[in-house]
Amino acid sequence: MIITPVTTDSPKGQEIVASLLQRFQTTDSSCQDAVADILQAVRMRKNAAVVEYGRRFDAPNLTAEELEVSAAELQAAYDIVGDDFLETLTLAIERIQSFHEREMEDSWLQTRDDGTIVGRLVRPVDSAGLYVPGGQGGSTPLVSSVLMNGIPAGIAGVTERVMVTPPDTDGKVNPYLLVAAQEIGITRIFKAGSAWAIAALAYGTETIPKVDVIVGPGNQYVTEAKRLVSGMVRIDMIAGPSEVLIVTDETAKVENVAADMLAQAEHDTLALAVVVTTDANLAAAIPAELERQLATLSREGIARTSLADKGVILVAADMEEAIALANDIAIEHLELMITDPWSWVPHVRHAGAIFLGSHTPEAAGDYLAGPNHVLPTMGTARFASALGVETFLKKSSIISYSEKALAADSRHIQLLANLEGLTAHANSVAVRTR
Ligand code: NAD
Repeated sequence: MIITPVTTDSPKGQEIVASLLQRFQTTDSSCQDAVADILQAVRMRKNAAVVEYGRRFDAPNLTAEELEVSAAELQAAYDIVGDDFLETLTLAIERIQSFHEREMEDSWLQTRDDGTIVGRLVRPVDSAGLYVPGGQGGSTPLVSSVLMNGIPAGIAGVTERVMVTPPDTDGKVNPYLLVAAQEIGITRIFKAGSAWAIAALAYGTETIPKVDVIVGPGNQYVTEAKRLVSGMVRIDMIAGPSEVLIVTDETAKVENVAADMLAQAEHDTLALAVVVTTDANLAAAIPAELERQLATLSREGIARTSLADKGVILVAADMEEAIALANDIAIEHLELMITDPWSWVPHVRHAGAIFLGSHTPEAAGDYLAGPNHVLPTMGTARFASALGVETFLKKSSIISYSEKALAADSRHIQLLANLEGLTAHANSVAVRTR
């Protein structure tokens, strides 16, 4: 049996729950060392290092002159993608745009009776680097990630949006990625993947601009590089291998539950698919259904390894226990395939995204529903949120005193300044109000 269902109160069940609660993984030290070397090389040798790594891992004949996708390549991409793709792309853009527009924050001012004005000035960062995963040699181009990274940055008002993605072995970027980028107004695209792309965005090279914010999902090398440059640039989050937790009762269809576990498991061998159900009969039926559907998948090998190594089916005593467990696990994607899922939403405290009812597979949210698919993993949904417009905004405080207001506050400001031993602070108020 690919996964053996267990009850939450059994010793095995408790062991599994304990490991789910401690799943935050730091990258292994060999990856950390490799990425530190890559960052150093790109910082010192810029394009030369970016091209060297690109040649070694992705495109053997890449040159510095071809690092940026040319106008001709951008145009040619439209000859390859068909009308069906453009129609779907247009719909996805509309949905994602409309959802993220609601996230925009306005500047605000507060005026007090004494004439003091305080407030917040909301401004976009000047530039953003968008990492779009492509897999080694451009083998798995994530078209949807172009939209999920690029649209919120555009709504925030970022003037320079730069995309990086691994090229294929011929040194080309997938045409669907190129068309998706152009349709949302991104035309500066560089053929660089992995840690060297993140390093180029953080430090700048002769052709790849240094940016203020770097966003986007990626493999462990991308993630480790983002972690190391965080602080000198903003990053969206440390997004690890993708995860789903499906809460079900006896009303869920076993085909749907198995299909959604597999949709997660096919991402990568480290992906995590968990079911917590109140129905022991459903739990018992899932393994055979997984086997039946596995045989039909293009990425059967990856999905099988992921499920065998990490897949979990837990039987909970009741829905209260199932939801409490989901909260403790703080999963990236939480599916509520249960009776009246809306009535349980007020009880959900931690999840990257919540999918309600039997007609809402996670895949709908990955591509078309509108919310962002770049989400916090490994329990970080306890404090982190989806990528969004806010990721590209920063806020300046505004403070304006009138003469009367400063006179009124003078004594208090001087008291606190003198208390801290900062007499020049106190004096800067005294000279204005004495
Ligand atoms: P990727 O673009 O992230 O990684 C491919 C790059 O890594 C290529 O340039 C490749 O040559 C390079 N690489 C391969 N081996 C290397 C090595 N040994 N050292 C340095 N670089 C190396 O694409 P991917 O590999 O398909 O990974 C995408 C990841 O993003 C998946 O794990 C997926 O689950 C994840 N993802 C997460 C979210 C989220 O919101 N959390 C969303 C979508 C995708």
